[in-house]
Amino acid sequence: MKNNRYSDAKIVWFPEKLASFRDGNITAPIYVRVKPTNRCNQKCDFCAYGHGDWDIGMHETVEHRDVIPRQKMLEVLEDFHALGVKAVTYSGGGEPLMHPDITEFMSTTVQYGIDLSIITNGSMLEGERAAILRSSNWTRVSMDYTDATQMSQSRRVPENQFGRVLKNISEFAKAKPRSCELGVNYIVTQTNVTGLAAFCKRLRDCGVENVRISPVWRPDFAAYHKPIASAVASEIDAARALTNPAFAIYSSYDLDSSSHQIRRGYHKCYFSQMVPVVGADQFIYGCHNVAFSEHGKIGSIKNRRFRDLWFSDEARRFFDGLDPDVSCRHQCASDGRNKLIAGFLELTNDNFV
Ligand code: SF4
Repeated sequence: MKNNRYSDAKIVWFPEKLASFRDGNITAPIYVRVKPTNRCNQKCDFCAYGHGDWDIGMHETVEHRDVIPRQKMLEVLEDFHALGVKAVTYSGGGEPLMHPDITEFMSTTVQYGIDLSIITNGSMLEGERAAILRSSNWTRVSMDYTDATQMSQSRRVPENQFGRVLKNISEFAKAKPRSCELGVNYIVTQTNVTGLAAFCKRLRDCGVENVRISPVWRPDFAAYHKPIASAVASEIDAARALTNPAFAIYSSYDLDSSSHQIRRGYHKCYFSQMVPVVGADQFIYGCHNVAFSEHGKIGSIKNRRFRDLWFSDEARRFFDGLDPDVSCRHQCASDGRNKLIAGFLELTNDNFV
């Protein structure tokens, strides 16, 4: 079974992209993350986009009222189709299912033959939205709580939202085909560790096929996680005991991972030419970690098409000029991919394999 979906090495399936890095050419992105709206119906206290209380010093230009206009998004999807973009994820910024035209965006994505996926808080995973998402390759629900009280406190929503989201998940699991994978993203904070394994069992019983467990990022990352690290490890071990052919646990709760450090130690980002972001503010960004920041801006598509920006001198200046060791002094979820690609490009090309 092929199930190593979070491997940094997946880029080897795209040799033409690796060749473009070697040759210094800009080619179409493989995959784009679209943030259709920065509006949200919840207020997670740890929200990286500033809907809650924490200020983690990322996404500093986010404007919560921003929404991609319908015509602009349809134009962008037309460009993705023409360029051969292979996959799109709708995510936040805000709650993507709150965009008034999201069903049209998602169905247009599918009609163009582009792989569809979403990261949602699950509160609106119902009706027409859920019906279209049955055509997605994967649908992931962000659930960083183990019960109604915890959800209500950390997301500032009424406690009955807990039951609503679980109901949406259960109904989606029953209605979806096998080709659509239903997962949960669980971000670990100091307040949601106890009961994590038991909650994973509950999710498994609802039809969830995998849970990805990750540490919340903040500038004092190591000090913040130190008091909970051993309890988290115990919960993850107990959750792993629940796995079976239909249910997996993925953990990136690795406090030593270089992704969580604030120095990159290299001076070229390849990932931004593979998986850029379309922001609700109609700017294109180098990745989701630098979305809504000045240093992450490739350029605006407000008055031009995505494809015109992507192959412009302005974009070239971004790709050539971004120095991750100087600019990306925060979490980089793609740190391992950048290092792997740099390693490939240093290999000699001879036949003595
Ligand atoms: S955070 Fe990482 S992937 Fe994003 S632009 Fe910086 S180096 Fe590239």
